Amino acid sequence: MTWRISVDRGRCMGSGICTALAPSSFVLDGERSRPAPGDAAPDEALLDAADSCPAGAITVTEDDRVIGPRD
Ligand code: SF4
Repeated sequence: MTWRISVDRGRCMGSGICTALAPSSFVLDGERSRPAPGDAAPDEALLDAADSCPAGAITVTEDDRVIGPRD
């Protein structure tokens, strides 16, 4: 089971919510977030970050199936 995070840097507004909720999985790079290097370990905090992103910029997939943000 592989989780992947993607951040649409065109939508990200640098709120820092994702880095606060899941600091090992996101990095603020200038004024935009990006996923931390390496594979993403399955972690509820990633889904919380995707749900909480005010820009809808975070997508979490599990084996290519979108699992976050949740409805
Ligand atoms: S929560 Fe969303 S808008 Fe805020 S820094 Fe992360 S990706 Fe960007």
